[in-house]
Amino acid sequence: MASDLHIHTTASDGKLTPEAIVAEAKEAGLSYIAITDHDTVRGLFSLEEKGLLSDKKLHIIPGVEFSIDLADREVHMLGYGIDFHCTALLERLKFLSNSRRGRFDRMIEKVRALGYDINREEVLNLVGAQGSLGRPHIARALVEKGYYSKMSDVFDSLLEKGRPGYEPHAKLTYPEVLEFIHLAGGKSVLAHPGMIGDEKIVAEIISAGVNGLEAYHPKHDDGMTRRYKELAQKHGLLVTGGSDYHAVKSRFPEQLGIFTVDDALAAAVVS
Ligand code: AMP
Ligand code: FE
Ligand code: FE
Ligand code: ZN
Repeated sequence: MASDLHIHTTASDGKLTPEAIVAEAKEAGLSYIAITDHDTVRGLFSLEEKGLLSDKKLHIIPGVEFSIDLADREVHMLGYGIDFHCTALLERLKFLSNSRRGRFDRMIEKVRALGYDINREEVLNLVGAQGSLGRPHIARALVEKGYYSKMSDVFDSLLEKGRPGYEPHAKLTYPEVLEFIHLAGGKSVLAHPGMIGDEKIVAEIISAGVNGLEAYHPKHDDGMTRRYKELAQKHGLLVTGGSDYHAVKSRFPEQLGIFTVDDALAAAVVS
């Protein structure tokens, strides 16, 4: 049986609601899934309210994905098995979602100034955003309006770090992020380490006390996966993986169940 420990919903930049994700995961026969929205746990509250969080067949692991902006790199940190009612965590997430709103408005202003006819309300309506706001919402709106044919082109031209529409995230350090995750009783896992592009940063985060490495990720080649598995084993860390599913066409995987990991890895995260 298979599991997927990295999934986004409409609570951040995914296109499917948490409820639709649960239905699709069951359809795909997955054993464990983790909902890991950017800087928010509201998808988990939504599932809890509807009584969908505990299920005999499908284990749902509460998760979150933090962004850490370094001078010239971007690092993502996953938290697993967190107590998503933890007040300290919720306060921190509130600060992050507020700062994402300000950042979103500044990016819209930059993109407008470059001659694109968009505004905040229109973007929110076009993409049906209901939680953490981010660059993908702007990218999707520009595709919907016909300025670009795919989201990755918008990132390449406007939204990647260093491009003219980019705005940095709130300044969180990785020791702070590790502290929030651990405070909420969770395990910290460095997301897609191969995408950081700097092994010194990976080594520093291991020294700072991260609990695991996401070795399996669609953006990792076989060499990266092997290297991060070995690195995790060497330091006694968890090895995890997931599809980073956003339910967006043209971004692999386009459905759940195609990119999965062994159940044993998922079980270890919550043991
Ligand atoms: P943000 O959190 O607003 O900085 O946006 C980061 C998110 O944008 C990532 O988690 C990805 O989901 C998405 N993303 C990053 N680069 C690309 C790309 N080239 N094409 C499509 N989506 C991207
Ligand atoms: Fe994302
Ligand atoms: Fe990520
Ligand atoms: Zn992600």
